[in-house]
Amino acid sequence: MNTTRGRDTARRGKRRTIFGLLLIGGLVLAAIAWPTLSAQVRAANWPKEQPRGPRHITARMEAVREAVVKEFGPRGLEGAPGCYREEGGIAGGGEHPLGRACDFMLMPAGEKATGKPDALGEAIVAWVREHAGEYGIWYVIYEQHIWSSRLPQQGWKLMEDRGSITQNHFDHVHISVY
Ligand SMILES: [Zn+2]
Repeated sequence: MNTTRGRDTARRGKRRTIFGLLLIGGLVLAAIAWPTLSAQVRAANWPKEQPRGPRHITARMEAVREAVVKEFGPRGLEGAPGCYREEGGIAGGGEHPLGRACDFMLMPAGEKATGKPDALGEAIVAWVREHAGEYGIWYVIYEQHIWSSRLPQQGWKLMEDRGSITQNHFDHVHISVY
């Protein structure tokens, strides 16, 4: 009698251990999948828009452009932001031809931002990371690094070398919206 009860307890204990391990395994998988899932949900919250108006950019991009110019223009942005252009200049075209991207110049093209302009670039990046959810911002590029609201778990990520100061975004900040 006592032996049977002992065996039962042992079996129940083993079952509990297996259940516990499955639970932990499930939680680990959920934790891994969560950033991707939530990022997909975030992207789905922003249906694609078509460019319109004289600047040929989407309403979403227009709102970001205005906000950045209002916030950072007086602090030293170089000229008007460059948004729509027919040629994206990168593989796949990117978002400029779709009216969903703007370049905010910190320096005359081809000159690397240092000192105050560099601090301005970093402030714009920080602003984007803070406001991405509010404005539907997809990603920001500065100084050959990218932050994406789709892959926030990757943080401020180093990009491939595209070859020049401008192509590597050392003279401007690039912002794309969904
Ligand atoms: Zn750009």
